[in-house]
Formats: sequence, structure tokens, C-alpha cells
Amino acid sequence: MTTNSDKKRLYIGGEWLEGNDHYDLRSPYSGKVIAQVPLAEKETVLKAIECAEQGAKEMKKLTALERSNILERAAGIFKERLEECALILAKENAKPLKAARGEILRTIETYKFAAEEAKRIHGETIPMDAAKNGKGRFAYTKREPLGVIAAITPFNFPFNLAAHKLGPAFAAGNSVILKPASQTPLSALAAAGIFEEAGLPKGALNVVTGKGSVVGDILVTDPRIKMVTFTGSVEVGLGIKERAGLKKVTLELGSNSAVIIDSAADLDAVAQRCVEGSFAYSGQVCISVQRIYVQEDIYESFLQKFTEKTKQLKFGDPESEDTDLSALISINEAKRVEGWIESARNAGTEIAYGGQRTGAVLHPTIIKNAGSTQEVSCQEAFAPIVSVNSYKTWDEAIDLVNDSLYGLQAGVYTTSMPKAFDAVERLEVGGVIVNDIPSFRVDHMPYGGVKNSGTGREGIKYSVEEMTELKLAVFTL
Ligand code: NAP
Repeated sequence: MTTNSDKKRLYIGGEWLEGNDHYDLRSPYSGKVIAQVPLAEKETVLKAIECAEQGAKEMKKLTALERSNILERAAGIFKERLEECALILAKENAKPLKAARGEILRTIETYKFAAEEAKRIHGETIPMDAAKNGKGRFAYTKREPLGVIAAITPFNFPFNLAAHKLGPAFAAGNSVILKPASQTPLSALAAAGIFEEAGLPKGALNVVTGKGSVVGDILVTDPRIKMVTFTGSVEVGLGIKERAGLKKVTLELGSNSAVIIDSAADLDAVAQRCVEGSFAYSGQVCISVQRIYVQEDIYESFLQKFTEKTKQLKFGDPESEDTDLSALISINEAKRVEGWIESARNAGTEIAYGGQRTGAVLHPTIIKNAGSTQEVSCQEAFAPIVSVNSYKTWDEAIDLVNDSLYGLQAGVYTTSMPKAFDAVERLEVGGVIVNDIPSFRVDHMPYGGVKNSGTGREGIKYSVEEMTELKLAVFTL
């Protein structure tokens, strides 16, 4: 496993295959070529599907213990290669090393959860005699693997978001074709190497690199693929759902996550958490804090603390130990959000801090009281930009959070128990985080959104449900 400027291979059917065509993979921060990556063509993808069908047969033969042991071994190898994997992230998606190590630690935990979950996939007995015609029958359910699953992943957490698909798929006895984002193929190929070493049967994991529009389209439409598990943008997710036919589809899509700060025992600590939630990995996190709604009595105090703490962030080279923010995934993304800042300024909105861009690095930016129709409020930024807004009443705060096309997670800071429960009832999101930011996630909790944030849930146990079919057996006694 290297991260040098070398030619990468595809991993198909347990073999490392040369590609015909390649593209140059560049570091988002330095712009330097870090690898040449195969552009999989139609024939290659079809071969991967064939191999995955064989792989699915092999996976189905394994016992729960054998599947669990493979996942446990993979987690162990990730642990040994923590630094190597973190460096891959720093290079291919400009994730600062501190955050990159955090992602690998979570990846290890995700695979460990999957190893545990492999041992408890079970059905239930059904009380058939509860029905008039059920007397003299005995029935039970069991969960069976689906077969071949296509996993399509985004650039922002390429190790851990792949783990959220590979882990439960293997735990349940499926095979996978993994299509990583074009900007982050090295992590996917590194994961393939680790599973090969961990003893995964040939064909159980296949990695096809190349353009989403080419590779993705074949995977989404081929009838041999039984499920598409996708994490990425709304636009691509919608296209997948439209073309997938009767396949199962789970979509983990974007958001413009909000937090309400109604009252807090320690406003300093809240401000610190909001800085972490707004600017971690330069805001390129699906549950990044993008909208902060603060009760008007504590607004100025919060804004001052939040701005002071934001000023302490360091931006620069992702491979430096003290870097907090680095380049966005591309210079175009940085320019897009620079344009949003400009239009907010033109609309008379105050930029409380930041707003500058240096190449692909957008400086952490705080906007005051952005209107709900401004891009920074109503679209997904995926950049280090946050609007801090004041509100008068509790009902107004709830309405402001719900005034969004998205609904992934929301955070609520309050010292009032009734308000906390009220927020859980009324916020239109997949998860409400009380007394913390919406960016809170651990890897076994159910995770997913409503509205344009997607459909289906991840979190190993919940993914296993999505990745298995329920079978019923009825015995006439
Ligand atoms: P993206 O542009 O939608 O790409 C995601 C994946 O889809 C990539 O592998 C991409 O390949 C592939 N793809 C592109 N066109 C396709 C097509 N026609 N058919 C099938 N696949 C296709 O997203 P991104 O920019 O990498 O990631 C950012 C987005 O992901 C944000 O919206 C973020 O909110 C979302 N996200 C959501 C979650 C969550 O759990 N809800 C977590 C992380 C990120 P190429 O790279 O080759 O185009």
C-alpha cells in the first residue's frame, strides 16, 4: 500500500487488475499528482458484477463466526495501519491529520460493531395460533443476505462511510462492488488490500474506480445488483432512485443542519462545540453546523465567544500536525461559496468574520442574521461557513429549523426539559441531539434523514436490516 505517484490497479474477483485508461489524481491542497487511477470501462464493471455474484455465493457459505472473524481481523489491520491510512486521507481529500486519525479510529470502531453484529442476525417465532386459521401451525422468520450490493461513496469520509456499507454487508453475508468518489479512490483500494489480508473470500469485495456517470450508471441499472447503498448529493441520489427499478435503495444525502441555543448552563462550552461542528473538515460534513439560532437575550454574548474561538483555528497544509482547516475538495467549491458570501454582502448581510479565500482554502466564515432565502441559509454549503441568527420565541426557533428542504439531524441546547421533549416532537429531522450539536454521531446509532436528506438508515444494525431479506417459514404440525 503506497500513496506515491504510482499507477493503481482495480481490485476485482480477488485480483489486482491493470486498467486500460487512467486519470491523474491530484492533492486538493498542493495540486500535485499523487497517483494514476484506472478509469473502469463498461466491460470491467460487468466483470466486477460477475465476480461479485460468485463472491456472494462464497459469502453465503460462511458461518456467522467466520464473517465476524474476518471483520475483526480487518479492524485489527486498520489499527496497525492507522498512520498510513490517515496520511492517505491528508493527501487525497486534504483532511488535516488530526481529523484524519479521528476518521480511522471511527472506521476501526465501525468494523468492530459490524463484527459483533454478524453474530446476532436472527429472526423470530410468530404466534400463528393468534389467527383463526393459524391453529396447528408453527412459523419463524430468518434474515437472508440479498446477494450483490453496489456501494457508492462520497469524498468526505471515504474510509468510514465505506465501512458503513462494507461492514454490515459482509456481516450479513453479501458481496459488494464499491465505487468510491473519483477524488478518493486510494482509501477504497487500501481498504480492499486490508480485507484481502483479513481473508475475505475472492469476489466478496470489488473496487471499481472511475467516473460516477459511467461506473455508477451500470451498477444502478444492472439487474444482478440487488441493492444500491448511496451516500452523496441530492442530485445524484435522486437520479439513482429514478433508475434503480425494483432494487432496494438507501440514500444518505445532504443537509444544512441547524442548532437552537435557547439556554445553556455553560455558553463558553456551547460556543466551543459550535466551532467544532461548523468548521471540522472545513464544513465538508453532511451534519456540519450551518445555521445557528440563538435566543436574542444571549445572542451577542454567544456571537462574541463563538467568533473569538473561531479566530484561534489554524488553516494550512493538511499534513501539518497543527492544521485545523485546509483546502476544500476543489478550488471550484471554494469559489462557489465565495460567490455566496459576495451575494450575502450585496444583500446587506454582515460578515462577522472571515470571507476570504486563498486558492482552494476558504477561511472560516461567520455571517450574521442571513435571511432564510439566502443561499447560505437554504442550500447545503459543504464549506466552512455558518450563519448565526437571533430569535425571540421558542416557536419561531422551531419554525426556522424546519424551514429547510433538508432534515438530517438538528441540535438543541436548552435547560428546560419540556422544551427538549417538544423539540424532539416537532423538529422534522432523522435525529434530534439534545444539548449538543447536530454533528454528533457515533457509528452504531441509527443515522439518516427525512425530506431531501434521504431515505433509509445506517448504523450497523439498521444497515443489516436494509441489507437482508426477511424469509418466512410456516410448518403445518
Ligand atoms: P456526489 O457528487 O453526489 O458523489 C457521490 C458519489 O456518487 C461519487 O462516488 C460519485 O462518483 C458518484 N456518482 C456521480 N454521478 C453518479 C451517477 N450518475 N450514478 C451513480 N453514481 C454517481 O457527492 P460528493 O460531492 O462526493 O459528496 C458530498 C455530498 O455527500 C454532500 O451533499 C453531502 O451532504 C453528502 N454526504 C451525505 C452523508 C450522509 O450520511 N447523509 C455523508 C457524507 C456526505 P464521482 O466522484 O466519480 O463523480
